[in-house]
Amino acid sequence: MTSFAIRARYVLTEKGLAKEKSVVVEDGRVKALVPWGEEGVEEILERKEHIVLPGFVDCHTHTQQILLRASIGDELLQLPPIWTRYLIPFERRLDDDLALLSSRLSIANMVRSGTTFFVEAGAPRPMALIEAMKESGMAGAVTLSTFDILDAETPSAGELIERTERLMREAKDTVEVWGSLREIMMQSETLMLGIADLCRRRGTGITYHLGEYQGEVDYSLSKYRKRPLQIMEDLGITDIRPTVIAHGVYFSREEIGILRSKQLGLCWCPTVDSILMGPHWAPLVEGVRLGIGSDGGAFTTLDLLHEVKVARAVGKALAVSLRYEKTALGTSDLIKALTGDFGRIVGHNNSLLPGSEANMTVVSLEPQWLYPAHDPVEAVISFAGARDVVDTVVAGRILMRGRKMETIDEGKLTEDLGKNREKIKKIVEELKSSL
Ligand SMILES: [Zn+2]
Repeated sequence: MTSFAIRARYVLTEKGLAKEKSVVVEDGRVKALVPWGEEGVEEILERKEHIVLPGFVDCHTHTQQILLRASIGDELLQLPPIWTRYLIPFERRLDDDLALLSSRLSIANMVRSGTTFFVEAGAPRPMALIEAMKESGMAGAVTLSTFDILDAETPSAGELIERTERLMREAKDTVEVWGSLREIMMQSETLMLGIADLCRRRGTGITYHLGEYQGEVDYSLSKYRKRPLQIMEDLGITDIRPTVIAHGVYFSREEIGILRSKQLGLCWCPTVDSILMGPHWAPLVEGVRLGIGSDGGAFTTLDLLHEVKVARAVGKALAVSLRYEKTALGTSDLIKALTGDFGRIVGHNNSLLPGSEANMTVVSLEPQWLYPAHDPVEAVISFAGARDVVDTVVAGRILMRGRKMETIDEGKLTEDLGKNREKIKKIVEELKSSL
């Protein structure tokens, strides 16, 4: 039985802000919130100028694209579409060693940023990701890169369904494995129905990219006379829980209606969506279960506290310019998005109330850029970043304690990245010259 307590100035739960409380953790769950001094456990983390927040959820990431970091300049960004021309060809060139290194680097970035759960959009080598999760204690939903329409190298629907099922069986009871679909133009109906059926049979969640490209909407309307989310609805795929839909920038009123009535998770990636797709409608619409995603380390630092600031600026720019309304996408909406609606978007309970999973992010309010933090939640949303995250706790296990990594050897990680530098550089150069 493992138990400890975090004694903090503030604790933010789904019910609101508590002052001078300790969160008592036992066997991976929040046992109680008690006044300072009444913890009844031996191990106490003193965090008297800090706020404990429900763990952050990165609802859309690509853990095995991080080694492309800073290789995507403006010229590449304008390639239509960048994923089939550059991102997928890169993923195909990863061997097991590089996939493991990418997974470790992504996880290290996430732990430093206070992320306690992530949704992988589709890893080319998911076993490497599972290995990195097991050794670090990081939690997330692992998925296999799943598409059956592209070129001669592309696996068949049957093969992908079988590989996903094998992955689910092999990972059983260690990490979560979900079904995934890559992109509506790259998947047959057989594949969509097969993956959906598998998720239902095994009781797992599903994630897919949707409404991220105008060409995709035109493709859907020409081929099916329906828009992308309406196709998913017709095929019964929207009945799977949890469902996390990435991007959804180009959704019609009907599609937003489906999202809302079915309470499907929508993962907005504020930086990437703004750069590649444009402003998102989500800040202007009530009642959608909204989360925040990084879209992977090729595009962002994986710091969700940074993403939330981009979301705030983009969301308000939209609301102010269209409605002259400055209160849209307020601090409480952003906390909800940052924590994936307190974990609900991924089928977890991160409420920080007694009985919930002990997934926590502890932020220091001491740095001068946060001082005097009149409202600590406002300080977190508007001023704090990964550099202020002090502790990251996943399912009651402390992965970072007082900024010291407990389960990840960062020195060794840096050394391994150094050793592979030339190999990575060569892949990127070859890819670029083939464009
Ligand atoms: Zn993506």
